[in-house]
Amino acid sequence: MADTLRILMSLANPANTSVASLLLAREELDYVICTEPDQLLKEAAAGVGVLLLEEERLRRQHRELTAFLDSLPPWSEPPLILLTGRRGQSAEKILVEQFRNITLLERPISSVSLISHLRAGRQARKRQYQMRDLLTHLRQISQGLEQEVAERTAEAERRRLEAERSNERLQHFASTISHDLRQPLLVISRYLQLLEKRSGDRLDATSRDFIAHMSTSADRLQTMVSGVLAYSRIGSQSLKPEIVDAAEVVALACANLEVAIADTGAAITHDQPLPRCRADKLQLVQLVQNLISNGLKFVRDDRPHIHISAEQRSGTWQFKVRDNGIGIDPAQHQLIFKLFNRAHDKNGYAGTGIGLAVCKQIVERHGGSIWVESAPGEGASFCFTLPDGQIAD
Ligand code: ADP
Repeated sequence: MADTLRILMSLANPANTSVASLLLAREELDYVICTEPDQLLKEAAAGVGVLLLEEERLRRQHRELTAFLDSLPPWSEPPLILLTGRRGQSAEKILVEQFRNITLLERPISSVSLISHLRAGRQARKRQYQMRDLLTHLRQISQGLEQEVAERTAEAERRRLEAERSNERLQHFASTISHDLRQPLLVISRYLQLLEKRSGDRLDATSRDFIAHMSTSADRLQTMVSGVLAYSRIGSQSLKPEIVDAAEVVALACANLEVAIADTGAAITHDQPLPRCRADKLQLVQLVQNLISNGLKFVRDDRPHIHISAEQRSGTWQFKVRDNGIGIDPAQHQLIFKLFNRAHDKNGYAGTGIGLAVCKQIVERHGGSIWVESAPGEGASFCFTLPDGQIAD
């Protein structure tokens, strides 16, 4: 059906038809006179702005017309202006109530009033066309969006599967490697011990020194292999989020570090209260434990003091683990989160350079980020965020 504003006129009385035609022509309103019963429907099917009917004509074609209008989408029923008889003889209810968009005008009607109703009808029709175009446009946008969402979802799923597969490969690789490495390492350690036990008194000091170095390196390699395995496990195991009280997390981490805390005489304090978060409890304990443990390790002469605080910032919780230790050169701030990177390797601090890489992995798996604020000799503040969505009230 074409977009048109033409008036389809079907009047019973030929005299009325002539008067109305003259009037519409004078007002330069496009119109078609439909005298034959079928003609009105045929013209309407081709395109209609306003239907102008006399009651008698409607009665004759009522069924066909309602069937035709019912076949149109609800928004597009054209305005119908029905000229009825005098009050009391006006169109029966049953005749008109089927039309959504009907205006009843009682005869006789002034030409001014008829024209103004026809113009209003044309305006209403115009708005229908505009509304339809708008809806079509919105539908296209929504289809485009739906397609984009579908494509992105498929892409995300593809990446998830890929990540899952690569995690599985990594996990398999790490456990195979660590198993294969562990065995010969154990053998080396054991034979070094045997060598020292059986031939220790026959060896000179330098040889004993060599053996001690080899033992230390073998032990260190053992620790590194275990660390790599733990690192790969954190990355591949699925998270088990639950509501966790951060104060409880700190308490559990401190319990695991009981000996080191007692040995260093460290003071561990935290904000009261700390928030509750939605996180994998074991991983959160591991994270806080690694940070506290570093605070206990990289100390100056004074007694270590580690304080844990949390504040809400632009939709996230920001935790801070602050110590009064040796601090870190800003040039190292990014590097220390990479596997095996150590900023104080030559200063006699033991370690493997795995702890912070594990921390980074844990935080990122929870959708947050981690960084350090520090300068040499001024202690270090390790900050990490957990997004607000992960936080329970
Ligand atoms: P490790 O402690 O086994 O060396 P980490 O990955 O935990 O490994 O830390 C990497 C490096 O970051 C450390 O070797 C150290 O140089 C630096 N570092 C970490 N935590 C601190 C801290 N609290 N104070 C000073 N330096 C730190």
